[in-house]
Amino acid sequence: MGKDEPIPTLVPVWGEDVFSQLSWFRIERLQRANVMVVGCGALGNEVLKNLALFGVGHLVLVDFDAVEFSNLTRSILFSRADAEARRPKVEVAAERLREIYPDVKVLPLVGDIGHDIGLGLMRQMDVVVGCVDNRWARYCLNRLCMRAGVPWVDGGIDALEGTARVFSPGKNCYACNLGPEALKDLSYRLSCSSAIRRNEQAGRAPTTPVIASIIGAVEAQETLKLLHPEELKRGELTSLCGKMFYYEGQHLAARVVDFTGYDPECPLHERWEPIEKMNMTTQWRVGDVLACLAERFGDPEVEISLGDHFFVDYLVLREDDRRVVTLLPDYAVERFVEEEPNLRHVPFHAMYQHEIRTLDARFPYPELTLERVGIPPWEVLPVKTRGETRYVELTDERSYSAYLDQNRQA
Ligand SMILES: [Zn+2]
Repeated sequence: MGKDEPIPTLVPVWGEDVFSQLSWFRIERLQRANVMVVGCGALGNEVLKNLALFGVGHLVLVDFDAVEFSNLTRSILFSRADAEARRPKVEVAAERLREIYPDVKVLPLVGDIGHDIGLGLMRQMDVVVGCVDNRWARYCLNRLCMRAGVPWVDGGIDALEGTARVFSPGKNCYACNLGPEALKDLSYRLSCSSAIRRNEQAGRAPTTPVIASIIGAVEAQETLKLLHPEELKRGELTSLCGKMFYYEGQHLAARVVDFTGYDPECPLHERWEPIEKMNMTTQWRVGDVLACLAERFGDPEVEISLGDHFFVDYLVLREDDRRVVTLLPDYAVERFVEEEPNLRHVPFHAMYQHEIRTLDARFPYPELTLERVGIPPWEVLPVKTRGETRYVELTDERSYSAYLDQNRQA
């Protein structure tokens, strides 16, 4: 080799030198893996950092918040400049993860797990990791994972204590382990139609970087195990599924306790299958979608259920019966009211919303797109036809596929 020729650099396979010494570790399994992390706060930062260091190949990040100064004391992926610019957490995290592990494919999604994530995307995941700070988000995550048949890892932290759990469809369920008070609270939230709901973000606990590291590390470890199903089956690894890890830092206590509640009657255990794919996107108009489904199923009476959400076409002010047109999904109404100068000062109980729960031939706005009605990209639509429910998956319109490993189900 001549003196001036560049010395070829050998790029080693990520982790080959170290992780390959772990008897259970399969680097190719991790490289193919699709993992969704919901919540990019203190816990999410820790989980993501670990997953990237281990070389997990495909990460989907979900969070609706921007970076704030208060995040900087416990979020390794965020900097002061990100807080100054109020950049979306998922975008910043995606950048930093690529710096940690250059081969990672990251799909950052600014959105809420309660209504912005289509089940079709969820179905592509091997594992979902919850790093959220409230019961409602956990409830939504649990339901989506049950429908998609995907295991999920949950973490929860307080100032100096925290818990980690693993839920697997068919084995255990977050909702089945809730007490009656919590269930009452959630079912109220689900059923209080004709009332405008406020977002429940209150009561957030203070957190520390130490507890986020500990619980985030356990979540990442459990995620790695779920990505090694054969090693789990052979007993080389033991999952936390069916148990709860508890850590308390102030006086130092750590425990693993049974956590097995699983009620066969729980309505949340419904798995949506079989799922049929159709060449439609959320940019299609409702009228065209209904026509297409009617033709496919040979039934002009098809009905699309909007599930737990509804479409609000107008508000009625109780005082003078005045109608205010909204044409929005229910979760967008609160914001609409706050931004509307004439409504901003009207108390919530002084108006009610008119809701539509199904899309069918009687839907008065067939020209609206599915997106406008509140259906997220890659969603699975429950379609009622001739007394049975069929599940129809929309096409991936945002090229999510480019980020995901598509060989998993092959
Ligand atoms: Zn359940």
